Parts: sequence; structure tokens; C-alpha cells
Amino acid sequence: VENLLQLTRMDHTEATLSYQSVDKVIRETVTNYETSLPQTITMALTPTNAYFNSANLQQILLALLSNASKYSPESGTVQVTVAIQNDQPTITIADQGIGISDVDKSHVFERFYRVDKARSRQTGGSGLGLAIVKHAVNHHESRLHIESTVGKGTRFSFVIPERLIAKNSE
Ligand code: ATP
Ligand code: MG
Repeated sequence: VENLLQLTRMDHTEATLSYQSVDKVIRETVTNYETSLPQTITMALTPTNAYFNSANLQQILLALLSNASKYSPESGTVQVTVAIQNDQPTITIADQGIGISDVDKSHVFERFYRVDKARSRQTGGSGLGLAIVKHAVNHHESRLHIESTVGKGTRFSFVIPERLIAKNSE
């Protein structure tokens, strides 16, 4: 219900704008959340001057981390990476889980869409996490990328747009 309300709010209002350092928000969010997940979380964070709406970034990270955990074996590792690719900071959440087929890839961002409804009933959830992530990423004029191989794992990534990177004043 909280997720549904959140999507409705995002449809109609600008989320309260509070921009914070991407590096800081990622480090804090992952550190706080990892203790509640069975998997090992690794962080490889290249320092950036990027800023992002902190509430939105937290929500993106929590939704992607909760999926990475829910759809992976407990023995898996979840990697959170910030890397500079083509001069642009790129945030990636990668897991070693069940993966998503090409057919499902085109649907997982739809509200209430869940792969394999019978099995996913056991894991719980309502199919709104990725709709929220996509909405928040698009709101910041970026795009969410998904790469996945069934049985191997899934990687979600997005680039921080140029306008959210503070210029050095030297
Ligand atoms: P909610 O996020 O609302 O609790 P949910 O996790 O089912 O529920 P989404 O986060 O929107 O919903 O994901 C939609 C579907 O995409 C999931 O039900 C799952 O089948 C698939 N999926 C999402 N992330 C992954 C992942 N990392 N690995 C494998 N499948 C995934
Ligand atoms: Mg989810």
C-alpha cells in the first residue's frame, strides 16, 4: 500500500527536493540495509561529484537491493558499484540470482507485473518496486538499463545525468 501511495504521489507531485551526495546516500543506505539481507553485499564506489534527490535515490536502492536479495540464493553476492563510464557516473546493482527472461524483461517495469505468479506469491511483494524505480530514474532524466541471463543473474544500471554533477570551482 505504501508503494502504491508513493507511485500516486509521484504521478501528481514533485517529490520534496533535497539533493545530497550520491556517494554518501549510497554508502549510508547500503550499510543500513545490508544487515537485514542474507546475501553478502559488496560496494565498489568510485568517488563522484554527483548529487541526487536523496529520498528518490534511497527508494531506488532499496527496491533494487530488495529484488536482488529476493530473487537470489542466500549464498549469492550482491554488488553495488559506482563507476565512471564514458565520463558519466554509473550506478549498478548486480546479483547472481534467477535472472529474467527476454520476454519478461519488457514487462517487469509495468505496475503489478510479477514473473511466475505462483512462485512469486511465496516471496511476497506486489509488483510495484521496479515501476517506482523506473519512474524515479526517468524523473531525473536518466534511463534504467537491465541486463539479465536466466540462471546467472541480473544487473540494473543507470547513469547520473550531467546536470546533477557539481563542477569543480578551482
Ligand atoms: P514489490 O517490489 O512490489 O515488493 P516485486 O518484487 O514482485 O514486488 P518488482 O520489484 O516490480 O515487484 O519486480 C517485478 C518482477 O520482476 C518480480 O516479481 C520478479 O519476478 C522480477 N524481478 C525483479 N528484480 C529481479 C531480479 N533482480 N532478479 C530476478 N527477477 C527479478
Ligand atoms: Mg521488488
